[in-house]
Amino acid sequence: MTTGSIPSGTSTLYRGGFVHGPAGAAGPFATALVVGDNQIAWIGSDEAAAGHADGVDAVVELDGALVTPTFVDAHVHTSATGMGLRSVELTDARSLSQVLDKIEAAARRRAGRPVYAPNWDEGDWPEQRPPTGQELDRATYGGVVYCPRVDGHSAVISSALAAASGAREHPGWHDSGLVTREAHHAARDAFYSGISAADRRADVDAALRSAAAAGIGLVHENGGPTLSSEADFADVLAAGQGGHGSHGSHGSHGSHGSHGSHGSHGSHGSPGPQVIGYWAELVGDEVSARALASRMGARGLAGDLNIDGSIGSRTASLREPYVDGPDQRGHPYLSVEQVRDHVAACSLAGIQAGFHVIGDAGADTVIAGFQAAATQVGVAKVVAARHRLEHLEMVDVDGIKALVELGVTASVQPAFHALWGGPDGMYSGRLGRERAAGMNPFATMHAAGMSLALGSDTPVTPFAPWEAVRDCVNHHNPAQRLSADSAFRAHTRGGWRAAGIDDRGYLDIGQPASFATWYVGGGGDGAASGSQSLGSDCLPDLSPGTTLPTNLRTVIRGRTVFELEGVS
Ligand SMILES: [Zn+2]
Repeated sequence: MTTGSIPSGTSTLYRGGFVHGPAGAAGPFATALVVGDNQIAWIGSDEAAAGHADGVDAVVELDGALVTPTFVDAHVHTSATGMGLRSVELTDARSLSQVLDKIEAAARRRAGRPVYAPNWDEGDWPEQRPPTGQELDRATYGGVVYCPRVDGHSAVISSALAAASGAREHPGWHDSGLVTREAHHAARDAFYSGISAADRRADVDAALRSAAAAGIGLVHENGGPTLSSEADFADVLAAGQGGHGSHGSHGSHGSHGSHGSHGSHGSHGSPGPQVIGYWAELVGDEVSARALASRMGARGLAGDLNIDGSIGSRTASLREPYVDGPDQRGHPYLSVEQVRDHVAACSLAGIQAGFHVIGDAGADTVIAGFQAAATQVGVAKVVAARHRLEHLEMVDVDGIKALVELGVTASVQPAFHALWGGPDGMYSGRLGRERAAGMNPFATMHAAGMSLALGSDTPVTPFAPWEAVRDCVNHHNPAQRLSADSAFRAHTRGGWRAAGIDDRGYLDIGQPASFATWYVGGGGDGAASGSQSLGSDCLPDLSPGTTLPTNLRTVIRGRTVFELEGVS
């Protein structure tokens, strides 16, 4: 048990719960904490807390809830997520006709405004094909419709969007209305530029509210010229500044003011979570790297700077052909030299660089580029800049070792493997079981000393942090499972580390008061059932099929930004 002094002024005692403290598993668990000046002022037992109850402004009874640091989602497309929440989600659609019904209903609701309908996956539909552009036209009375496939690397678009974007003139256009490659990028750009600023801000707020409801206190926004827009990126960063301190300074605590959570920056209210932004644009020299990152307010020139595409769209760059497309191996979008120049430039500027990479040949390209950069500017500069890679789904042991030597973090998506891995999953269909089984080698990465951060890539998969932790614990390949403790740390502290900030993401005295309180089921009688449902690691049972914790409250920098309705 630790003690500290409770500051005068605004302070709140939370008691009667289970606090996931800095040691996590150090029992007996702490059961109470005090927040003062938006920081954690004290952590200890209820008995010790009794002496503090008179000295605080408010007391919150936790009723056996688990208190954890807020999660960090390290790969987010914020406005697209919000647009999905406010438009039409196709993840659960079971057939093409259901998809068209949903789109028609959304078009009516949106009364002529553009319709965003992401995440279709024709694999399980009886029709076995995506909608056509003509079907979208009929469902929306000729509206602007953009329907990216679940992996985001292809889309179906309506005729109005095809006309507005000139997609027909680009490689990757299909007369069915399906677009890939350049045609897809043209359609996506035209779609986003047709969104009004007010709509976009509402989308951003909706997404951040949803993150807060999921117990997420920090998101890494992955923007870029072919993904969103500069205005979009600026809006997302502004919305995240309610809890400022997340960007602008590298790594120190003490760099933030104590009034961050009361700030009202930007023209719209802040829904809570902090935002760190990554801008996916290639640079070739140090001066441009510095200028671009500073103009954008980006922590790094990284994120979805694509080395390749995805397995689902057969655009991930592979050493051997796709099993279900024997003449296809994907193709790298960037050369070793482009990777080298970008990484060297960012390293010299002290800015994080990074890429989206999925296939094994893509990993070869990116690793060769990193190594060439290290030869150019020195290993120390590369390591110090804390570069990162997104997805990194098909990397081998030698590749992992090479990346560890260069201090590169892996920002991975456990939900991808849970959804598409396994002997009968989509990855096996595309690559065969043996190659698919070697994907997402989380345990190998962890054992090699690679820093891991977890993310959803929302809107590809939703904000769902406990699910991500559970997916790591129950990896399809038993050899690649992580302990709950390692996965949990990767999704909290690991997310801060991935942004180059080493001293955040856990509960201890002096840390910002950013935490979530969870109802943990399992044998209780209505109230949270308490310590018997927590393991010795102070984490809930994460076996397949168990009910995951329910978020009761999210506090970010001392301010409650989410409360489950019906809970006071
Ligand atoms: Zn992404």
